[in-house]
Amino acid sequence: MTWRVDRVVPGGFGASWDARAGEFVTVVDLEGLQAGDFIAFDATDPQEWLSPIHCRESLRSIFVRSGDVLVTNRRRPALVIVRDDVGVHDATIPACDPTRYAVEFGVPGHRNCLENMWQSVRERGVAIERMPEPLNLFQNTPVVGEGRIGLTDPLSRPGQRIGSLFLNPGGPGDSGVAAVTGRGEALDAMTDGRFDIVGWNPAAPVGARR
Ligand SMILES: [Zn+2]
Repeated sequence: MTWRVDRVVPGGFGASWDARAGEFVTVVDLEGLQAGDFIAFDATDPQEWLSPIHCRESLRSIFVRSGDVLVTNRRRPALVIVRDDVGVHDATIPACDPTRYAVEFGVPGHRNCLENMWQSVRERGVAIERMPEPLNLFQNTPVVGEGRIGLTDPLSRPGQRIGSLFLNPGGPGDSGVAAVTGRGEALDAMTDGRFDIVGWNPAAPVGARR
C-alpha cells in the first residue's frame, strides 16, 4: 500500500491532514501508552464535524469499536472503523486543556490537546467558533460500577493501530455498498489484504432526488 500522507507526531504535539472519500486513515501508537485526541471536519463545510455525542446515540454505546460507523453532528456517516488492534478508545471525556494541566496536575503552561487542535484548525483555515469534542483514540475510560468513569492508562502497546477508517464513498446517489462489492478485490489489493472493507449507502439529503 502506498501512503499519500505519512506523519510522525511527536508527543505533546498535534498534526492535521486532509482525507478524501474512499481513503484510509491509520493511527498508530508508536511508543505505547499514548492517547491521541481525534477530530474531523467536512472539507466543504466546517460546521459539520465528527461528533462523539451523536456517535454514542447512533451506536447505542459509550464506546466505539471495529465495524462502527461514526457520524457527524448532522447525523450523517463520516468514517467507519475497519480495523482496531487495541479495542479501547474514549468517546466521553473532553480534550486536555491548560486548566487541566495547571489546576489538576500542577503543571502550568504544559502543551495540551485543546491548544494543539486550535493550532491545526487555524493553520488549515477551518472557520469554527467552538472546538468539537474529540474522539480520544487509545484513551482508556472504563465504566467502573454504578455508572462511574475510570480514567487510566491506555492499553495500546508500541505499534498497535486503530486500523483504518474508511471514508464516506461520496455524495448522495453514490453507493458505498456497490463500491465495495464491485471493487472488493481491487480494494483488497490496495490494502495488502489486511483489512475488512466496509461500505454503505449514504442517505440523500433533504431535497435531493434519488
Ligand atoms: Zn490531551
